[in-house]
Amino acid sequence: MFTHRNLTGRVVYPGDPDYAAARRDYNLRIGVRPSAIVFAQQPLDVQSAVAWARANGVPPAMRSGRHSYEGFSLVENGIVIDVSSLDSVEYDDATGLAKIGAGAQLLPIYEALAHRNVTIPGGSCPTVGIAGLTLGGGFGLLGRSRGLTCDSLVEVEMVDAKGGIVLASETRNSELFWALRGGGGGNFGVVTSFTFRAAPIGPVAIYRIQWPWEQIQAVTAAWQAWAPGTDRRLVSILQNYVEQKGMIASLGQYVGDKGALLSILEPLLAVGTPQLMLEELPYIEAVRRFGGVKPDRNMWRVHIHQAGQPFKNTSGYILKPIPAEGLSMMTHWLTTSPVTDVTRWPRCSTRSTGPPPARPKPPWPGSRAFAGPCCRGRREAPTSITATPTSRTGRRRTTARTSLAWSKSSASGTRRTCSTSRRASRCKRPWRPRR
Ligand SMILES: Cc1cc2nc3c(=O)[nH]c(=O)nc-3n(C[C@H](O)[C@H](O)[C@H](O)COP(=O)(O)OP(=O)(O)OC[C@H]3O[C@@H](n4cnc5c(N)ncnc54)[C@H](O)[C@@H]3O)c2cc1C
Repeated sequence: MFTHRNLTGRVVYPGDPDYAAARRDYNLRIGVRPSAIVFAQQPLDVQSAVAWARANGVPPAMRSGRHSYEGFSLVENGIVIDVSSLDSVEYDDATGLAKIGAGAQLLPIYEALAHRNVTIPGGSCPTVGIAGLTLGGGFGLLGRSRGLTCDSLVEVEMVDAKGGIVLASETRNSELFWALRGGGGGNFGVVTSFTFRAAPIGPVAIYRIQWPWEQIQAVTAAWQAWAPGTDRRLVSILQNYVEQKGMIASLGQYVGDKGALLSILEPLLAVGTPQLMLEELPYIEAVRRFGGVKPDRNMWRVHIHQAGQPFKNTSGYILKPIPAEGLSMMTHWLTTSPVTDVTRWPRCSTRSTGPPPARPKPPWPGSRAFAGPCCRGRREAPTSITATPTSRTGRRRTTARTSLAWSKSSASGTRRTCSTSRRASRCKRPWRPRR
């Protein structure tokens, strides 16, 4: 047995009245129970927690915004080192550098920087933590013109496994710095602050186009022919919902004016019967809109599920457009979903009454896209498939994300949804490009 002496900061243990709230993840599917959660108030608390974990042989996990899809910031019977109180945002006009505490959430960062008419490229969810986002790369609606969040990173301050403070930049501990830019959270130490180069940002133009669901195949084909190669100042997202939703949508943000955006959108507007909304607005307003901060404008939300739901997301890259065969497979799974509301998944599985539906067979060469979960007899389907073009290494690729969310966490629901997702991953395998 170990004692918790020598831990500093605010420490919460199982049995404490605030333990449930302190443990709770954004994804309610995650039920991991740590034996202590330390809310560090200063880097010294992080250092003492690391030293304590090491001395007692207890596994640590680092936590910032709690948005890990798989709950990697929690650890069973281990110690969670939570940095969410380290949330300062300091911007220096003279250098253009922003020093941001590792526990800051995205919206407060964007808001603070907007007062100085600058920003960093980041994600669209307002409550994602800067640490998990940056350490995993970080992609958002400025991504095609300004890169990933980690591309703007200049310096990291981190507590290493021995409890010492380490600085990493291009000139100091440069290999560590390289690894921290996309190598994933929780791998190399506990980051306490990040320094980014911020850049000026003016008004942006945003759009949303909606089509009847029946036009899904034509729209997806046109979108994927157009989006990866279009003007890099535009990030466009295609949201393919389940059939019950009755529509599909594309939305995006352009660093420029409304008139220019309208002409860029022409190929997309030529398909089916589009309904277009186009606006020019201050950048921070666009951030709020896409983050769903304004409840009356929720149709602009980039992320379909909200806190307080269990969910399962899987993502993959598409290197080549999905051919017609793949599109009909995707459509098939979106058609067979029992879901009527995309933000709610009433049951994670329903039994089909008839025989398993005929399904086009993979593969088509060069594609890693996932078009839907496969299961025999039982029908389960994603609530949405979202695609966004991204480019970092000069190659054109699209990120495709499949989201399943349901309303109540239960062991059987979780098991079934996870196994649906595993089957989905098996579907992806034949299309992976050979290395
Ligand atoms: C609703 C939602 C919307 C999202 N939107 C986007 C988006 O637009 N763009 C995008 O790129 N991603 C997005 N993501 C993915 C998100 O960026 C990642 O899940 C990210 O890891 C979350 O970071 P966090 O700090 O909030 O999560 P946490 O769960 O706190 O941490 C995530 C990982 O980082 C590690 N970590 C946390 N803090 C530290 C630290 N101080 N030092 C070292 N490691 C640490 C954790 O151990 C864990 O492995 C979204 C996720 C969700 C749930």
